[in-house]
Amino acid sequence: PIRIGVLALQGSFREHMTLLNRIPGVEAVEVRTKEELQSVAGLIIPGGESTTMALVAERWGLIPELRQFAAEQRPIWGTCAGLIFLANRASGMKEGGQALLGGLDCMVQRNFFGAQINSFETQLPAPACLPRETDASNTFRAVFIRAPAIVETGPGVEVLAEYTLTPEEAAAQQHKSVIVAVRDSHLMATAFHPELTQDTRWHELFVEMVQQHAAEVAAAAAGAPAP
Ligand code: GLN
Repeated sequence: PIRIGVLALQGSFREHMTLLNRIPGVEAVEVRTKEELQSVAGLIIPGGESTTMALVAERWGLIPELRQFAAEQRPIWGTCAGLIFLANRASGMKEGGQALLGGLDCMVQRNFFGAQINSFETQLPAPACLPRETDASNTFRAVFIRAPAIVETGPGVEVLAEYTLTPEEAAAQQHKSVIVAVRDSHLMATAFHPELTQDTRWHELFVEMVQQHAAEVAAAAAGAPAP
């Protein structure tokens, strides 16, 4: 099986573990130490509170290790607070700032939906890369909890899902629609929480990314001249 880690410092890591464990060929691992991080082929950074998560990661000395993990092009998927953590640029941060892992060429606005609606859910069109659902609508249920939104993306970033603001929401914002899921080579990020639904398709998509990366690494190792 392929080993997929879930950063288990804070937040909704148990829910991610549960969904991963439903996918055949996956061994889900809770990651709290450098050794556990080293042992996985891909990592999920869950939702929660990004300030707290960053603080705990810093205290446990994991920030350099996580940066190294990303630098090695090993796949990382950030959900909600995890998206903030992965972003290169973010606004609405707590005073005094918070450590960001960075790597994802996006501008994120923290607590974007905060003022009007802290939490809500809606059906959004599924991107083409998501495994197809049997039901004809081909949408997915997006659960937002004090969610951030992506308000700007760099050139290499693939947009997977967008949310169109209601007229009332748009009246209070500078945006008519925002980006809520992206992918950029080995990084994926979603503002919503697939781990709070019964739908494993986003997890399957990530597992596919990790498997592909693992196959590339294996092929490179096989093609390399013997030491
Ligand atoms: N508002 C949270 C933060 O800024 C994110 C919320 C979540 O992950 N559900 O960290």
